[in-house]
Amino acid sequence: MTWQHRIDAALDERRAADAFRTRSAVKGGGRFLLRDQRQFCNFSSNDYLGLSQHPTIVRAWQQGADRYGVGSGGSGHVTGYTTAHQALEEQLADWLGYSRALLFISGFAANQALIAALVGKEDRIVADRLSHASLLEASSLSPAQLRRFTHNDVKQLDALLEKPCEGQQLVVTEGVFSMDGDSAPLGELHAAARRHDAWLLVDDAHGIGVLGEAGRGSAASQDVKPELLVVTFGKGFGISGAAVLCSDSVADYLLQFARHLIYSTSMPPAQAVALQEALNVIRSDEGEQRRQILAAHIQRFRAGVGELPWQMTQSQSAIQPLIVGENSRTLRLAQQLRERGMWVTAIRPPTVPAGTARLRLTLTAAHHAQDIDDLLEALHDAGE
Ligand SMILES: *Cc1c(COP(=O)(O)O)cnc(C)c1O
Repeated sequence: MTWQHRIDAALDERRAADAFRTRSAVKGGGRFLLRDQRQFCNFSSNDYLGLSQHPTIVRAWQQGADRYGVGSGGSGHVTGYTTAHQALEEQLADWLGYSRALLFISGFAANQALIAALVGKEDRIVADRLSHASLLEASSLSPAQLRRFTHNDVKQLDALLEKPCEGQQLVVTEGVFSMDGDSAPLGELHAAARRHDAWLLVDDAHGIGVLGEAGRGSAASQDVKPELLVVTFGKGFGISGAAVLCSDSVADYLLQFARHLIYSTSMPPAQAVALQEALNVIRSDEGEQRRQILAAHIQRFRAGVGELPWQMTQSQSAIQPLIVGENSRTLRLAQQLRERGMWVTAIRPPTVPAGTARLRLTLTAAHHAQDIDDLLEALHDAGE
């Protein structure tokens, strides 16, 4: 088989399974998006607090660019670590109650870097089966043994940790699961990890800024302090980037061994300035109001769902999936909603387990109550 045959065969296989992925260029952000001159109410965005369009955050980025220029000019180990990066790291560490925070350009990069730098071949990673692709990919590429436990099943985790292991064990999970929207029982998971001298890594991409007092996220709201906390800024923060929260010695260790930090250009300093302003908003009364608006939308949606022919999850979060099952039926439902001016995305395997294709609906503080009612009406019509 030539390269060309291999690529063509892989594409054909995807098309045959209704699993071929395409992108569409859109405009706008927040409540609406525009595509081909048509306006849609956006139910697919991770901009949970509506901060991506926030005027003071936009201005902070502009002022940051005036002051620092548009690029950092290098890796943080050379000259790419500015006073803006340093101030943001200190504010994040202080906010979340850790000694240190290290910035990464994305959550994907942070997870790759962290896992690659930490584990060796004698170690074992025990990960929730529904962990994000960036965690599972980093784990399966690592030389460590990878074991997956049934979603949120602490007993099974405990049994896996009980098995003899020559090296160290790392437990991996998320605060709020990206495709199901439910939360992990972090206290129980941490207790199980501790019984076996394992460390807990929590990726709180969907909880940070959105959950807990002052938006401190899933771990703080469950009163748990994992040894390693990953937060990302492309969702609740409305921007992009990520940070790892950890102890002093782990931060120093990552500065030696995390290749994504050492061999990659750091985030633009202007972005770090914008992130500081996003953090200010998140910690403020305005942030609290935005969290309350979002919570009211979630409640309104769940209360109004009633009888629909699709399965829902236990999610109390902004992520409200409707599990349809078959790829083709899921695509059809997404299309029906688009015809009514609502932008929703069908999520299909391999992103989710086979047979559980779904609409991953996301609600945000930028929505109006009427948007939620319109969505419910469209779903009930489609369900009949
Ligand atoms: C979105 C997401 C990531 C990736 O973060 P980016 O900053 O978008 O690269 C990592 N983990 C989880 C759980 C996510 O949902």
